[in-house]
Amino acid sequence: MRKIAIFETTLRDGEQTPGVNLHPEEKLSIARQLARLGVDIIEAGFPAAAKSEMKAVQKIATEVKGPRIAALARAKKEDIEIAAKSLENAEKRRIHTFIATSPIHMKHKLKKSPEEVKNLAVEAVSLAAKFVDDVEFSFEDATRSNRDFIVELAEEVIDAGATVLNIPDTVGYATPEEFAGLIEYLKKNVRGINSVELSAHCHDDLGLAVANSLAAVKAGVDQVEVTVNGIGERAGNAALEEVVMALDTRRDFYQAKTSVNLREIARTSWLVSYYTGIMVPPNKAIVGANAFTHESGIHQDGVLKERSTYEIMDPHKIGATTHIVLGKHSGRHALRDKLRELGYEVSEDKLDRIFDAFKSLTEKKKVVSDLDLLALLEDGFGRNQDFSMEMVQIVHGSSTVSVRHGGKVEVTHSFNGPVDALYQAINSLLGVNAQLVDYRIYGITEGRDALGEAVVRVKFGDRIYMGRGVSTDILEASLFAYANAINQALSEVVNHGFDPK
Ligand code: MN
Repeated sequence: MRKIAIFETTLRDGEQTPGVNLHPEEKLSIARQLARLGVDIIEAGFPAAAKSEMKAVQKIATEVKGPRIAALARAKKEDIEIAAKSLENAEKRRIHTFIATSPIHMKHKLKKSPEEVKNLAVEAVSLAAKFVDDVEFSFEDATRSNRDFIVELAEEVIDAGATVLNIPDTVGYATPEEFAGLIEYLKKNVRGINSVELSAHCHDDLGLAVANSLAAVKAGVDQVEVTVNGIGERAGNAALEEVVMALDTRRDFYQAKTSVNLREIARTSWLVSYYTGIMVPPNKAIVGANAFTHESGIHQDGVLKERSTYEIMDPHKIGATTHIVLGKHSGRHALRDKLRELGYEVSEDKLDRIFDAFKSLTEKKKVVSDLDLLALLEDGFGRNQDFSMEMVQIVHGSSTVSVRHGGKVEVTHSFNGPVDALYQAINSLLGVNAQLVDYRIYGITEGRDALGEAVVRVKFGDRIYMGRGVSTDILEASLFAYANAINQALSEVVNHGFDPK
C-alpha cells in the first residue's frame, strides 16, 4: 500500500486566515499536538516575514521532535538564509521555496519574464540545497500556468537539488479531473520526476480542495498539504481530517495510507479552533458537532439496530467522544495521570496552578471532562497576565458593574448590557481607549454546567488583539477574555514601546 505524506501547514498557510495571529507559545503548543497527531512534516512558518515568526519557527525546530520541520522562503537569498538559520536545531529540516509561474502572476505581480523567473527559481533551489538536503519547490499558481513551462522549470529545479515538487492550486481554480490530469502530465513528461516526491496543495475557493487533493493522490502524488479544520486564507486549504479520513475510510479505493494517529484528530481540531478563535461549523465533515449526530427517527432506529446502516465511520476512531474523567474527589495524582494520558507533561509549579483551577471548577461542575481539562491547561498559555481584577461586582438587572483595580473603584452603567458596562469600566480604570470589534460566546463542553468561552477582538490604536476567557459564568469568561486581550497589548508596550492608548 502506498504511503501518502501529510505536510501540515496550519502554522503557515492556516495562520494566514484573516484575524488569526498566533502567539509563539501557542504555535509551539499546536506544533506539539501535530507531532502527537503523527503528521510527517510541519510547516512551522515563514521566518522572513517577521522577527516573531522567525522565533516561533526556531522554537518549534528546537523543541518539537518527530516530524520534519519546514520553513517557507520566497525565491530570495535573504529569505532562504533566514529559513536555514531558523531550522538549524531541527532533527529533520526542509526549506520550502516558491515562485509564481502563471502568466498572470509573472506579468502583473512579479513583472518578470518566464526566463527571469526560471533563473530565480534555480538560484533559490541551489542555495537552499547548500543548507539542507531536503528542498521543496512550489510552482505558485500552477493550475493557471502553462504546463510545458512547468515541465521545463521542473527539470531545472530537480537538477538544482529540489527533492519535492509541489503543485499548488493557489487560487482554488482547478477541478478534480483537471488537477489529476496536470499531475499525470507532469509524471509523464518531466525528466527525473521519479527521483523526487510530488505534492499537491489545494485551496477551497470552489469547495474542491479536498476533492482535488484526493484526485491528486489517485493520480500519483506522494504528499498532500493540508490544514486542521481547513483553515487558511479566503475559503481555506484542504482539511487534514477530511483528506485523512477519506483515505482511511476508502482505503479500498485509494489503496493509500497515512501515518496519522486518528484518535488525535478531534483533540487537534479542538485545540486549533481554540487558539485561532475560529469555530468549527456544526455540519463540518469529520469534526463538526453534528458530524455523527442522527436526528431523523428512521436513521436513529437504523443506527441503534446496526451502526453501519447510517455510519461510515466510528466516531471513537477519531477520539470524538468526551470522556468523563475526574470529579470533586480526584486528587493531584489523578490529575497528573490524566494530563499524561492527554499528552501533557507539566512542571510541579504548573501542576499546582492547574490543580487549583481544577478544584475550583469541581465546585461548579460535578464532572470534569477531557475538554474542560484542556481548556484549563491551555488557558492563558504564554500570555502575560500583568493586569488582573481584584474585585468585580455585577448587578445583572440594571447592567451596573463595579470593578476594583490598583486601589481604584470604577462603577459603570450601560444601556447596552453588563458586558459593555464591564468593558467600559476596565477602559476607564486603565485609562486606555480599547474598542471591542468582535465578541462571541460559546459553550465548549456539554450540559447545564458547561464551561463557556468568550472570544473577543479588541482594537488598540491600529492593532487588533484576540483574547479568550473560560469560565462556567459567561460574564466572568467575558471579563477574562477582555483582560487577556488587554494584557497582550500591554506586553507590547513593555516589549516594543507600542502605545495602546
Ligand atoms: Mn496556500
